[in-house]
Amino acid sequence: DFDSVDVVNSDRDHVWHHLAHHKPFEKTGPMVIVKGEGMRVWDAKGNEYLDAVSGAVWTVNVGYGRTEIADAVRDQLVTMNYFAQTAGNIPAAQFSKKLIEKMPGMNRVYFSNSGSEANEKAFKIVRQIAHKKYNGKKTKILYRERDYHGTTIATLSASGQHERRHQYGPFVPDFVEVPHCCEYRAQEGADMSQYGVWAANQIEKVILQEGPETIGALCLEPITAGGGVIEASTGYWPRVAEICKQYDILLHIDEVVCGLGRTGTWFGYQHYGVQPDIVTMAKGVASGYAAISCTVTTEAVFEMFKEEDDAKMGYFRDISTFGGCTAGPAAALVNMEIIENENLLENAAVQGEYLRESLKGLMSKHEIIGDVRGKGLLVGIELVKDRTTKEPVAESVVIAIAGHCMENGVIIGRTNRSFKELNNTICLAPALISTQQDMDRVVTAIDNAIAETVSKM
Ligand code: PMP
Repeated sequence: DFDSVDVVNSDRDHVWHHLAHHKPFEKTGPMVIVKGEGMRVWDAKGNEYLDAVSGAVWTVNVGYGRTEIADAVRDQLVTMNYFAQTAGNIPAAQFSKKLIEKMPGMNRVYFSNSGSEANEKAFKIVRQIAHKKYNGKKTKILYRERDYHGTTIATLSASGQHERRHQYGPFVPDFVEVPHCCEYRAQEGADMSQYGVWAANQIEKVILQEGPETIGALCLEPITAGGGVIEASTGYWPRVAEICKQYDILLHIDEVVCGLGRTGTWFGYQHYGVQPDIVTMAKGVASGYAAISCTVTTEAVFEMFKEEDDAKMGYFRDISTFGGCTAGPAAALVNMEIIENENLLENAAVQGEYLRESLKGLMSKHEIIGDVRGKGLLVGIELVKDRTTKEPVAESVVIAIAGHCMENGVIIGRTNRSFKELNNTICLAPALISTQQDMDRVVTAIDNAIAETVSKM
C-alpha cells in the first residue's frame, strides 16, 4: 500500500540520513527499509536481506515483527500515553522492578530517550554531586580512548573517537581521556605479561596527574563496541574497580550496546564481577520498538539526592519530557520477557561462540583477517595487510566487503572511524534470536566478499 518510486524519491529529496554521504543517493537512490520479520528486512525495491547488525546499529535484540511488543504498546497508548515522569506510570514501575532484579546492587531507574541522553543524565548526576558534596571539586569525568558515549556536545566531549568529533569542538571542559585497553594493538612499552592490570594502571597515572580530588567519575564501555569490538584483558576490571574505590571515583558503565543480552549476560559488566555506581542503557532496552533509555544508579547515589534542603543537595534538577512516554517501558517490559522466555541470553552466548569459531576458520584462507574477537553476539573482525606488522587495510577495503555482502543479501557493519584514522574492523551484532543457519549464511557472505575484494586488490 505504498508507491515505492514515490517513497524512494521523497526520501532522496527530503530526508537527511544519519552518518551518510548523500551524493551517491542521486544515482542509486537511498535504501528505504519497508518491512522486517525475525532476522530479515526488505527494502522498497523488494530486496530481502539478512540483517547481521540488528538495524545497522546493534539495536533490535529480539528481532523484527514482534507483535507481542506492538500489542502491549498499543494497549498502553490507548489507556495512558503520556504524563511527565514528575509522576509515575504503570509500565515504568513494572519495568523498573523487573530490570533491577537483573542488576544486583543497583536500585534506581531514570528514564529518557537515547543513549546520549542517558549518559548526559549520568554526567549531570556526577556534576551535581561534585558541586554539592565536594565544594565544586570532583567535576572531572574520565573517559577512554576508542570508547563512544554519544552524539551531543557533552557526550562527544566524553568520546575517544577522534575522527567523528574533531569537527564539533570546542568541547565541554573537564572531560579527560585515559588510554585504551586493546591487547591486539597494545601501547608501546606495555607490560604484556599482565596487560589488563598494566592498562588499568595507566588510568591511575592520569588520576594522579590530574589530582584524585578533582575527579568525580570514570565512564567506560564494558566492551568497546563501535571503537572496534574490544574486550579489556584479564585483570583489567578488578583493578579498575579497586582504583575507583581508592580514589573515591564513581564507576559509570555505558551499557548502551552491551545491555539487555547482547554479550550473553543481561549486562556486559556482569562478565567481570564489578559493581558499578551508574549504568546507562538504550538500544536493546526496547529493541527499537520505542525510544527509551535508562540511567540506573545504586541506592547510595540516589540517597544523596534525597536531601530536602535545596541550599545543600536538594533534588536532581533534570527532566526529559519524553521520559514520560509510556510506550518505552511498555515495550521494554515485554522485550525482557521475550529474552527470558526464549532463553536468548544463552542463545547469544552459544551462537556468538559458533560465529567466532566459524570466522576464525576463515583465517587459514584469508590472510587479511588479523583478529576475530568479541563476546556473545558482539563480534569484530579486524582486517590487516599483513598479520605480522598488523598494518591496517584501507577503509575502502572494508567498504567494498560490506558492499559485496549487501549485494548478496547480508547486511554487515563496520566500526566507526574510531582509533585516530583506523577503520578496518567489520562488526557483527545479529539479533539474539540468531540460529546456526543464520550464522552460516553470514560467514559464507563474508567469505565470498573477502575473496571477491582481495582478488581485485
Ligand atoms: N553509548 C554507546 C556505547 C553507543 O554505542 C552509542 C550509540 N552508538 C551511544 C552511547 C549513543 O546512543 P544514542 O545514539 O542512542 O544517543
